[in-house]
Amino acid sequence: QAKAAGRNTMQFFDPDMQAVVSARVALEAEIRAGLKLGEFLLYYQVQVGIAGIPTGAEALVRWQHPQRGLVPPAAFIPIAEETGLIIALGRHVLEQACCQLAQWASDPALSALTLAVNVSARQFRQKDFVAEVLTALRESGARPDRLKLELTESLLIDDVEETILKMNHLKSMGVGFSLDDFGIGYSSLSYLKRLPLDQLKIDQSFVRDILTDPNDEAIARTIVALGNSLGLTVIAEGVETAEQKSCLTALGCYFFQGYYFSRPVPVEAFIGFVRSPIPAGSVSV
Ligand code: C2E
Ligand code: MG
Ligand code: MG
Ligand code: MG
Repeated sequence: QAKAAGRNTMQFFDPDMQAVVSARVALEAEIRAGLKLGEFLLYYQVQVGIAGIPTGAEALVRWQHPQRGLVPPAAFIPIAEETGLIIALGRHVLEQACCQLAQWASDPALSALTLAVNVSARQFRQKDFVAEVLTALRESGARPDRLKLELTESLLIDDVEETILKMNHLKSMGVGFSLDDFGIGYSSLSYLKRLPLDQLKIDQSFVRDILTDPNDEAIARTIVALGNSLGLTVIAEGVETAEQKSCLTALGCYFFQGYYFSRPVPVEAFIGFVRSPIPAGSVSV
């Protein structure tokens, strides 16, 4: 009886909807399997200071899929977030990042580098998120002050008090915080000043047309001023040309990340780059 009713209700689904749903279910199962098989790995994109000296990297997850090749995060992070798989994926990313940091610590050319790790809202909201980070640090032996967590504004909207408690706990251990994609979210300036942040990251949407769109330039200028007055460093993401870098420098932004310096690359290539940086701009965008 119940089965028959179930079959009947299925008929109310649009067949296209059903195809979308089953594709998502299949993708979820694939992500789950891929996690077990170790198919998720980290690419590293250099972050540089004013003189082009590498200060660290951002870790960006990739799915090395046996059939589909290298899959970018946009194709699986949203599903991982919806299904809760982001918890396991995020932990895996943190562990890999901390292991990498621990390895760099014994090399004088690499030991000062920081590594920024993206944290999704759902991952951060877990009750034991702080414990998860501290465990990854302890088990790897990585220095907490080399780890930087990238949070987005969406995460800061709900339960600000809890967010501040968690950030303060990690901060007291030395972990740093950067506010990613800054400017496109809804963070209110009143609690921005209460968050124990270290850095604002200017969203790449403001960098893209910074030379031609006066509004983008004004926003970037405002973010730099805001960062300065809150005692935060400001980094720009998505820097693709020398002109964008000069413009940002003129606005008082002294840290950069983008294709102009390097694309995200496997760890060996990143280390190679740090040891002998390729002059910016010589890699075609
Ligand atoms: P994001 O954290 O804002 O990372 C910056 C994105 O911009 C990266 O895309 C990077 O490859 C790209 N990018 C860097 N420089 C340039 C440039 O000069 N021009 C342009 N057009 N793009 C540039 P990617 O690697 O595809 O990652 C996309 C997003 O996926 C990330 O945005 C982040 O929100 C998310 N993500 C990546 N890895 C993780 C992860 O381990 N955990 C979580 N939760 N999210 C992640
Ligand atoms: Mg990021
Ligand atoms: Mg970003
Ligand atoms: Mg972005």
